[in-house]
Amino acid sequence: MRAEVIAIGDELTTGQRLDTNSQWISRELGVLGIPVAFHTTICDGLEDGVSALGIAVARAELVVITGGLGPTADDLTRDVLALVSGQPLELDAASLAAVETRFARRGMPMAESNRRQALFPRSSRIIPNPEGTAPGIDINLARDGGAGGSAAGGCRVFALPGVPAEMRLMWRLSVAPALVAMDPEQATIAFRRIKCFGAGESAVEAMLPDLIRRGRDPLVGITVHEATITLRIAARGRDEADCRARMAPTEAIIREALGDLVFGTEDDELEDAMLAAVQAANGRLATVEIGTHGLVAALAAQGQRRGSPGAFLGGTVLPSSGPSGQPQQLAELVQSCRNAWGATHALAVGQAYPQEGREAVGIALAGPQGVVTVEHVLGGGPELRLVRAAKTALNLVRLQLACTPPSPTTFSPVAAPPSATR
Ligand code: AMP
Ligand code: MG
Repeated sequence: MRAEVIAIGDELTTGQRLDTNSQWISRELGVLGIPVAFHTTICDGLEDGVSALGIAVARAELVVITGGLGPTADDLTRDVLALVSGQPLELDAASLAAVETRFARRGMPMAESNRRQALFPRSSRIIPNPEGTAPGIDINLARDGGAGGSAAGGCRVFALPGVPAEMRLMWRLSVAPALVAMDPEQATIAFRRIKCFGAGESAVEAMLPDLIRRGRDPLVGITVHEATITLRIAARGRDEADCRARMAPTEAIIREALGDLVFGTEDDELEDAMLAAVQAANGRLATVEIGTHGLVAALAAQGQRRGSPGAFLGGTVLPSSGPSGQPQQLAELVQSCRNAWGATHALAVGQAYPQEGREAVGIALAGPQGVVTVEHVLGGGPELRLVRAAKTALNLVRLQLACTPPSPTTFSPVAAPPSATR
């Protein structure tokens, strides 16, 4: 079942008010396991409403409308529903009495226009509104217009008032339970994020044949932020446990295919995984860097703050006029850093130097067994290239300490295998 969310109101199409209802409803639909394929925003015009709803019922099995259910002349949602369903509007005596009581309780006269809020298309069901005067409308429409589309073959439409607090309450009390009742086997959606570092987005996609395909169940999405790749698995099921069970085989395929590229899940960052590896090895790390503006130490300090206390001793940040960044000089620099901090492991990132028409930085890791150096060719924009270099350095620590056998970094566009000087 795919959904379309329609927001109605001149205040939205003129940009005076942000459509927050569609965002909220889409999230709620996600929780219920219903994917939203379309958001439509329209003005308070009868013809535009009819044409937008006609399009929506032809392409979605579920449509949720907000707005346009008030008493004024520009509130036309009930007229739109009447026209598209071909059903006349009929007065519901109980709803009229409820509106009248509301006004009477406040000692206010009811305007004639409020009677409109007790009008509903003939074949529709009323969605009670405990907080306001505008009840909602629940109606089945046929895919080609007209009323009476069954839940199986047609489109179910829920129209709710635009006032966010009223809309949300009515959603929780009436709409969400109705949706769960429509498909109890798919009532929940759950997500799992797998975090990777060490290859580009397209390389990762190529390593996961067919997994990123749209329409797959569970669905796998791929996003990249500052060279860290996130694979997001989404599964629908009866409940959380059912969703988790459905996701497990997909996660296993991902881990099998990506191996050491996977460093964590959910909110884990690379520096967290790196420091966890240092901690697990009973180590203490120090860093020294030139030309990376202290980024390596800053990331390590953030990882330290989130977990692995005591694993990071501190870092030295040298000016770009310091020692050259060639791997050979770095080997000496990283050894003296290790000694100076009294660390088990020291990580060095040098300043950029020209390499076959591009720029590279050296990365060196000193440990009890000796020094490993890697040449990392810089790629990406001016901001991203430093982050990538810093993360590649942190990743070298993780790979050397946590992965057996230790693997070289394979960061694109070019990566030299580590030349070990032991
Ligand atoms: P209506 O139900 O069209 O009378 O809308 C009542 C009020 O709810 C409007 O004046 C807006 O302030 C607010 N509203 C309507 N639609 C939205 C929306 N999509 N997102 C956020 N607020 C809305
Ligand atoms: Mg309105």
